[in-house]
Amino acid sequence: MSKLAQLDRQFVWHPFTQMRDWQRREPIVITGGNGAVLRDVRGKSYLDANSSIWTNLHGHRHPKINAAIYRQLKNIAHSSALGLANEPASRLAEKLVKLANQKSTIANPKLAKVFYSDDGSTALEVALKLAYEFTRRTRGKSVKPRFLSLAGAYHGDTIGAVSLGHIDLFHKAYGGMLFPTDQVMSPYCYRCPFNRAKPERADARDYRRCRWECVSQVEKKFAAQKKKGNPYAAFVFEPRMQGAAGMIPQPDGWLRRVAEIARSHGALLIADEVMTGFGRIGVQSQASLFASHHEGVQPDFLCVAKGLTGGYLPMAATLTTQKVFDAFLGEYEEFKTFFHGHSFTGNQLGAAAALASLEILQSKKSVLQRSELEKSFQEELPALWTLSVVGDIRQVGLVAGIELVKNWRTREPFALRERAGIRVCEAMARRGVLTRPVGNVIVLMPPYCTTAKQLGKIISSLRSAIGEVLPK
Ligand code: PMP
Repeated sequence: MSKLAQLDRQFVWHPFTQMRDWQRREPIVITGGNGAVLRDVRGKSYLDANSSIWTNLHGHRHPKINAAIYRQLKNIAHSSALGLANEPASRLAEKLVKLANQKSTIANPKLAKVFYSDDGSTALEVALKLAYEFTRRTRGKSVKPRFLSLAGAYHGDTIGAVSLGHIDLFHKAYGGMLFPTDQVMSPYCYRCPFNRAKPERADARDYRRCRWECVSQVEKKFAAQKKKGNPYAAFVFEPRMQGAAGMIPQPDGWLRRVAEIARSHGALLIADEVMTGFGRIGVQSQASLFASHHEGVQPDFLCVAKGLTGGYLPMAATLTTQKVFDAFLGEYEEFKTFFHGHSFTGNQLGAAAALASLEILQSKKSVLQRSELEKSFQEELPALWTLSVVGDIRQVGLVAGIELVKNWRTREPFALRERAGIRVCEAMARRGVLTRPVGNVIVLMPPYCTTAKQLGKIISSLRSAIGEVLPK
C-alpha cells in the first residue's frame, strides 16, 4: 500500500462512507488530472464519469481557469466580505445576475442580488433563512413559515437543508434536530403509483395514460395547507431532474405547472440548481444555463454551487429578488440586517475561477462540446437496454441515471444491503472509470470535455461491470 494510502487510512474520515468497508481495501489516491481523466498515485488513469461528484464542468486543469486563479493569486487569495468588497466577487455578482435574467420569456421576478456562501448546503440554508424571515416580515411575525419539498429530496447536509430532505437513509437519524417540513410526491414516472403503463424494454415507454396525478397532488397539498390558515411560505425543488433522489427527470411541463400552483398560493419558489445549473441539463437553442428557465420558471431564490467555479473551489451563491432584499433594509438599530455569513463568503480565488468558467461556458466551443456530448449520450445509452438488470435509463442533457433492478418485468429493486450499485461502480473503477451510485442508480455525469470515444468507454465499462457483478 502506498504511503499516502496509509496516511489516509490512519487519519481521514470520508464523507458518506462506511469506514469499515473503506479500511478493507487500498483506497485510490488521486494525484493528478487532466481534462476528463484522473490519475492515481500508482499512475493508473481513470475517466471521471461523475465530474468529481457533479462539480467539474470543463475538465481538470483547464488552462483558462488555472490562469485566472494564478492571476488572482498575484493580487490576493482572500479578504473578508464582512465590511469589505472585492473585485472578482463584484464582477461575478453582476455576471450572475445578468445570466439569471437573460431569457426574455421569463418576465418575473427579476433576480437582482447575490449572497455568496461556500457550498450547496449553505446556498440552500441562506435561501431558507431569507424566505423564512421575508415571510414573517410580510405576513406577520406570528406566522410560522412552513416549507414544502419533494419526496426523495436532498438539499445538503446542514440542519436546515436536512430538514428539507426526505431520504430516510440519510436524514432519519437526525429527526430530533430538524424542523418540520412537508413533502409531496415527485414525478418519478418509472415508479409512479398511478402509472398503468406496462414495463417495456425501451425508452419509448407508454405513459399516455398519465393524468398528471403528480401535479394534482401538489395542488391538493397547497390547498390543504391553506385551509390550515398558514399557506406554504416556499416550495423547494430541483428543476428538471432530482439528483440524489435517484436521477429522476421531470416530464416536460411538470415544473411549469407546479410553479404556477405554488405562485397562485403565494409561495416563494426556491430552485436548488446545485446539480442542474451551468448547462448540466443540456443545451437548448438560446436556452439559459439554468434548468428552471428551460420550463420558463424564474424562482425567487436560485441556489448554485458545485459547478459555479467550474468545480475548482468551494463557492456558492444564492440569487434573490430586490423585493426580498428590500425587506431586510432599515436603520441599524431596527436590526433588520440579515445576520448570516461565512468566513470565506465572496472569496476572490473562487470568484476568479467562476468568472473564467462562465466565460468558457458561453464560448461557441463549449456550446458545441456540450451538444456533441448530449448526442453521444443519446447514441450510446440505448445499448444498455439489452441488459436484464437495467430497469430504466434516464437522461436529461448531460446527466444520466441507470436504475438497476432484480427483474425488469416486475421492477423489483435490489435490497440496499446487496450493494448492487456500489459493486457495479467498484467493477467500473477496476476498468478505469470512476463514478458513485445513488442507491441502485448508476450516475453518469462526465465533464463537458469528455469525447465521444471516452463516453463510449464509460458505457462499455458499465456494461461489462454489470455483466461481472450482476450475472443473470
Ligand atoms: N443540493 C443538491 C441538489 C445537491 O446535489 C447537493 C450535493 N450533492 C447539495 C445541494 C449539497 O451541496 P454540498 O455538498 O456542496 O453542500
